[in-house]
Amino acid sequence: MTLRVLLLGGSAEARALAEQLVADGVAVTSSLAGRVRDPRLPVGKVRVGGFGGVAGLRSALADFDAVVDATHPFAETMSAHAAAACAGARPLLRLQRPGWAEHAQPCWHWVDSHPAAAEVAAGLGRRPFVTVGRQQLSCFTPALGEHAVLARVIEAGGLQLPQGWRLVTDRGPYDVARERELMNEHRADVLVTKDSGGRYTWPKMAAAERLGLPVVIVARPAPPPGVPVVHDVEAAVAWVHGLRR
Ligand code: NAP
Repeated sequence: MTLRVLLLGGSAEARALAEQLVADGVAVTSSLAGRVRDPRLPVGKVRVGGFGGVAGLRSALADFDAVVDATHPFAETMSAHAAAACAGARPLLRLQRPGWAEHAQPCWHWVDSHPAAAEVAAGLGRRPFVTVGRQQLSCFTPALGEHAVLARVIEAGGLQLPQGWRLVTDRGPYDVARERELMNEHRADVLVTKDSGGRYTWPKMAAAERLGLPVVIVARPAPPPGVPVVHDVEAAVAWVHGLRR
C-alpha cells in the first residue's frame, strides 16, 4: 500500500521533503495556508487554505496515514492544531530547522514577542530594518511609528504603514553583499528579526555583524509537547520510511 502523508508546508524544508518523498514513491499532499498569492509550489499534490481549526484538520486526516508538520518555526497555531488533531489518531512529526542561538553574538538582544522587539528596537536606533514578515508588522507601529523603518515583506498586499516607513518586497534568495548594500543605503542602525534559523535568511545576520549593527531577535515559540521533532529533511525522510515497517 502506498503511504499517504499530509505535509503541512510553507517552508523551504517542506518543499525539499516533498521532493524527496515523492521521489521515493510516497503519496504526498502538501498543504499551504494560502497567505502568498504566488507561492513557491512543492512537487506532488498541493492543497491550499486552512482546514477550519482542529476539527477540520481531524476530518481531513481520514485521507492520510501520517502527518509531517514542516511549517515555519513561528507558525505556532498550525503546529498546535496539528498536535491536537493527530493525538491518538495519526503519527505526527515536527520538522523544524535549527534556530540561530548557537551563532548568537554579544550584540543580539533576545526578546519573547514581537511587541517586545519593537520596544527594544526603539531604544537601540532610529532607523530599524524590520524583517519579521507582514503578519507581525502591526505590532511594530506603536513603538516605531515615528522611526524611519525599512520593512521587508514578501508581498505588500494592503498593508497600512506609518508615513515615514519604507516598504520593500523581496522573497530572496538573499546574499550578504546585497543585504549589506540595502542596510547601508537605508543607514539602518538596528536589525529586527525572528529566530527563523537556517541558511536562507542568514545573510542579513552576517551583514549586520559586518556593519556592527545590534540585532533584536524574537525567540521561537516552544513546539507542542509530546510531538517528536527532527531538525533536517533526511531525518524526516527516515521517520516516514520507518512508518512502513
Ligand atoms: P499560524 O498562525 O500558525 O496558522 C494560522 C492558521 O492558518 C491555522 O490555524 C490554519 O488555519 C492556517 N494554516 C497555517 N499553516 C497552514 C498550512 N500549512 N496549511 C493549511 N492551513 C494552514 O500560521 P502562520 O504563521 O500564519 O503561517 C502561515 C503559513 O506561512 C505556514 O504554512 C507557515 O509555514 C508559513 N510561513 C510562516 C512564517 C511565519 O513567520 N509565521 C514565515 C514563513 C512562512 P485553520 O485553523 O483554518 O486550519
